[in-house]
Amino acid sequence: MMQKNYFKLEEPFKLSRIAYVNGNYLDFKKSLIHIEDRGYQFADGVYEVFNVSDSKLVDYDLHLKRLFRSMGELKIKSPIAKNTYIYHVKNIIKKNIIINGLIYLQITRGVAPRDHKFPVNQKSSIVITGRHLPADEYEIKFKEGIKVTTHDDLRWGRCDIKTVSLLPNVLAKQDAYIKGASEAWLINKEGHITEGCASNAWILRKDNTLISHPSNNSILTGITRTSFLKGLRKHSIKFKELKFKIKDVRNAKEAFVTSATQHVTPVIKVDKIKIGNGKPGKFASIFRDVYMEALQLK
Ligand code: PMP
Repeated sequence: MMQKNYFKLEEPFKLSRIAYVNGNYLDFKKSLIHIEDRGYQFADGVYEVFNVSDSKLVDYDLHLKRLFRSMGELKIKSPIAKNTYIYHVKNIIKKNIIINGLIYLQITRGVAPRDHKFPVNQKSSIVITGRHLPADEYEIKFKEGIKVTTHDDLRWGRCDIKTVSLLPNVLAKQDAYIKGASEAWLINKEGHITEGCASNAWILRKDNTLISHPSNNSILTGITRTSFLKGLRKHSIKFKELKFKIKDVRNAKEAFVTSATQHVTPVIKVDKIKIGNGKPGKFASIFRDVYMEALQLK
């Protein structure tokens, strides 16, 4: 007999999802955006992913700050007042009864006749959705560690902006997935590993120094990265912003990825390179605790 999974909501009891779309709370299935939205035609938009833990937002202030920076860099106007974002984001958590999961917030330059140059006083579009993440998904990945492949970094020169223009990331991630890995680390023309498709990349050297690519235009400075580093400063663990290559990965003691949904996750293999003994090392739990202590809930 099939074992019943009591933690999985049965179909009839599944909630209908609610999305916030340009001022209205709508049934997810009926939420639509105009065909001439510039996000659809030019990937002309930005986004944020917030982690939700016990129905609270993780590092909300830092995510909002990065959202406004991304909009500023692309000269996209905020569609709503800065202090009202929290109200709508919290409403999506409540209306969808999210306990552990994520919030996806996207802003595009809005609807205009297709033309590369953009109208200056364009009303931008906003969409906020939320969804549950199975609570044990992260735990399994943390315990087992993840495999990573490598891929050419084909992205543009402003990876510091969190734009929805993600085609190189999408292709690299798909390539990783086909090869049985969860993430791809991107390697630029100089042979440096910049970051993952959807996470920051880290190695722990044999001298116990933690290394990650410098925070510049070649990477998205993750909010998880920022909080984790804030936490590290309280401990006596050495960290250096340094560019690193595959040969450094080969010599690494441990390796990690960080992101809002993956927190700190150990990497056990990069292509054919086994990290340590092929199992998560002892720093994985230390680093996870450091991050968990440093994050802010709202
Ligand atoms: N780099 C890239 C390219 C990403 O897409 C992400 C996830 N959004 C990150 C890094 C990690 O960012 P965060 O910690 O804010 O989720």
